[in-house]
Amino acid sequence: MTSLNDPIAPHGGTLIDRQLRGEMKAAVSERAETLTQIPLAHMSISDLELLAIGAFSPLSGFMTRADYEGTVKNMRLTNGLPWTIPVVLPVEDDLAGQIQEGQEIALVEDDRILAVMEVQEKFNYDKKFEAREVYKTEEEAHPGVARLYRQGDTLLGGPIWLVNWPKNQDFLDFRHTPAQLRRMFAARGWRRVVGFQTRNPIHRAHEYIQKTALEIVDGLLLHPLVGETKKDDIPADVRMESYQSLLRDYYPPDRVILGVFPAAMRYAGPREAIFHALARKNYGCTHFIVGRDHAGVGKYYGTYDAHYIFDEFTAEEIGVTPLFFDHAFYCKKCGGIVSAKTCPHGKDHWVYLSGTQVREMLVRGEMLPEEFTRPEVSKILVEGMRRQIQASESE
Ligand SMILES: [Zn+2]
Repeated sequence: MTSLNDPIAPHGGTLIDRQLRGEMKAAVSERAETLTQIPLAHMSISDLELLAIGAFSPLSGFMTRADYEGTVKNMRLTNGLPWTIPVVLPVEDDLAGQIQEGQEIALVEDDRILAVMEVQEKFNYDKKFEAREVYKTEEEAHPGVARLYRQGDTLLGGPIWLVNWPKNQDFLDFRHTPAQLRRMFAARGWRRVVGFQTRNPIHRAHEYIQKTALEIVDGLLLHPLVGETKKDDIPADVRMESYQSLLRDYYPPDRVILGVFPAAMRYAGPREAIFHALARKNYGCTHFIVGRDHAGVGKYYGTYDAHYIFDEFTAEEIGVTPLFFDHAFYCKKCGGIVSAKTCPHGKDHWVYLSGTQVREMLVRGEMLPEEFTRPEVSKILVEGMRRQIQASESE
């Protein structure tokens, strides 16, 4: 029997740890020098790190064919557990030709060996089919689909062991592993923790959603994604600066932990909402906030599809409790942040800016309305945009 005092179990029951340490690490590192080297793309580097630290438990390596196909077709691994996003290692055909099943290979970032992998399977896959099933479109205009089409045509599947961290360890003070975060939650006596995924600055609406959720749990994990995102998303360093400023002035320090989620964005909408929720369960969250059009892009997904997809699973098999939120905004008549659910006044009274409008204002160096974004955050965003424009002009 589990009691309310027990921490939430990782997906599949065991927190995976594929980091080699001490003598094992030294021995494997030495052996790795002699192995065929496979250079990793950005997303594979970030997937490798997440696999190694157990954020993708129960996965202990890149998917073999059955898990890949189960994920794409049925949103389940071969062991029956829900899983919605392929975690695969694509390679180009000429490289794939040099590798046999059963062979051990070294996974490298430039000239640095990150991990070894036992290639259990080498297999081909149908990119169009994956695009339709996972991203709900075959259009290359979709950034996730574009990446899928660009990547290699062969997948290598098998367990990995990490020997070196990837070079990019930005935000090291916030790069907590699932095991570390679980210890931090326990040390604070938090039994119920809500996770908030974001790749955006925290506007007043997000703050409202986070604090509303925090009312019913013990702690908030603010867990921005800092892996690869689209070019027009606000850069991670600017976002991190804005989060810290907001936390300093507007959040109780004993109720919030800021950590980073080193994953790449897939923009797979509803399927990525499940994926984000399961990963945060591995980090120790009992609750997870799913916003409107979570992980969406363009008009590829219905507004609430990322909510409805949870109905395709039982609460027990997902484990972490999703908290569904609608868009929120400031209502001049209510005099506070509301949603369409809680305010009767209608659009004419709401202060709402689209992502495009926000971007245009920042490009012009304008502060966002105070009802929309706190001035501390606006300032950081304006300054960040100015640096970005300068950098692109000097290129
Ligand atoms: Zn109102």
